[in-house]
Amino acid sequence: MIQKIDHLGIAVKSLDEARKYYEGALRLKCEGVEEVASQKVRTAFFSVGGVHIELLEPTSPESPIAKFLEKRGEGIHHIAFATDEIKEELKEVSEAGVKLIHEEPFEGAAGKWVAFLHPKSTHGVLTEFCAPKE
Ligand code: ZN
Repeated sequence: MIQKIDHLGIAVKSLDEARKYYEGALRLKCEGVEEVASQKVRTAFFSVGGVHIELLEPTSPESPIAKFLEKRGEGIHHIAFATDEIKEELKEVSEAGVKLIHEEPFEGAAGKWVAFLHPKSTHGVLTEFCAPKE
């Protein structure tokens, strides 16, 4: 079951620059900065009423975020839904005809299992499922 929107992923050129806006102007508290080696990104999390904002800064020109920034510039990169059973959820949407980027969940930020659905199947929005690790 999809339980809620877990977070919005936002691609930024510089975490330090973007944090000035989120911490300074919006006065949100950064809950932590983490590097996710598998995705070649550095992330910073903010909490807003139980939904998180995940800032994503590329750590390499080969990072998917670097490619996104090149093509589209800074902005909303993905929406993430929290699910209690990520493998089951992937199977359900796959059977419903949705194209998956990842058939199997992998380790994402904040100690979670994550997997992405293809934006061609989701009306243009890169979509992530995430679930807490047992
Ligand atoms: Zn995410």
